Amino acid sequence: MTTAFPHQTPLDTSPDVYRTLLESTKAIPWRIDWATMRFTYIGPQIEALLGWSPSSWMTVNDWAERMHPEDRQKTVDFCVSQSQQGVDHEADYRALTRDGDYVWIRDVVHVVRRADGSVESLIGFMFDITARKQAEDKILQLQRELEVLSYRDSLTGVANRRMFDTLYPVEWAKARATGEPLSLVVVDIDYFKQYNDHYGHVQGDECLRRVAQVLDAGASRSRDLCARFGGEEFVLLLPATDAEAARGVAERCRKLLGNEALPHARSGVGREVTVSMGAGTIVPGSDDDPGVFLARVDHRLYQAKSAGRDRLCDVEP
Ligand code: GH3
Ligand code: MG
Ligand code: MG
Repeated sequence: MTTAFPHQTPLDTSPDVYRTLLESTKAIPWRIDWATMRFTYIGPQIEALLGWSPSSWMTVNDWAERMHPEDRQKTVDFCVSQSQQGVDHEADYRALTRDGDYVWIRDVVHVVRRADGSVESLIGFMFDITARKQAEDKILQLQRELEVLSYRDSLTGVANRRMFDTLYPVEWAKARATGEPLSLVVVDIDYFKQYNDHYGHVQGDECLRRVAQVLDAGASRSRDLCARFGGEEFVLLLPATDAEAARGVAERCRKLLGNEALPHARSGVGREVTVSMGAGTIVPGSDDDPGVFLARVDHRLYQAKSAGRDRLCDVEP
């Protein structure tokens, strides 16, 4: 006998060899007769993985019934339609263990066809992919956490500057398209340097958190955004909000802060923490620029500061 590799002995192709190979691998082999929909073989490894003995795998119903209810319909429909079309396929699903747990399985299926093209049987391998799925879930969860964190100010828990920079152009474009007014309120804590100097940075941080919470509660509509702009400055982005409503939000925030009555022994305007605010409203037109509008609102904040602090300025100086 000639072989392509003359120094190798011819491969022993006896059924015993195949059986040993199949039953020693981690993948679990199986075969289903298409006409009867019955298992004609399933590797004994199935018992170690799921706890069900090989002899308990009789029909495809046993396979379908030992599947997580959320995966069952989709997986069975997919596998049946692929098999009917004679297409090799793979499916991931959760298989029920005898203890009532679930194991993630990847089933890789080969459709065996007769010479006339009709389906004779399905043969496949089940792989335990639980560890891989757990790792994937963990990565997804971390990605989500990271996404949330990267848009959140770590000190106060409200949105950060990055979030504002991302959303402001989006809301600007929406306002341009719909003709709805867009409002901004810029907020700055009064005499906060003195607050820090007097109470220390730890208390200063706590004060920032309290003010952030108040502003976040004050800008209460679902599309409203309260973001920490930097230092002791915050910005409220208020879509579909006209000037009167924006003034209402700003005054509500000042009132809520008043309710907090945070002591400030070194304030130049009173004995409690106060804020100054600039507000503006625009229905953006083609000649308007979001940066210019923000600068205009910011300018009103400084008007409020120079007019004595603890107030809102929402008109052109
Ligand atoms: P004004 O009334 O004009 O706004 O005066 P101000 O003292 O509030 O403003 P100024 O810009 O002079 O000082 C802001 C202070 O805010 C300086 C800094 O110590 C403090 N600050 C900025 N970021 C933080 C922070 O993350 N934590 C704490 N504790 N303080 C901060
Ligand atoms: Mg300040
Ligand atoms: Mg400031």
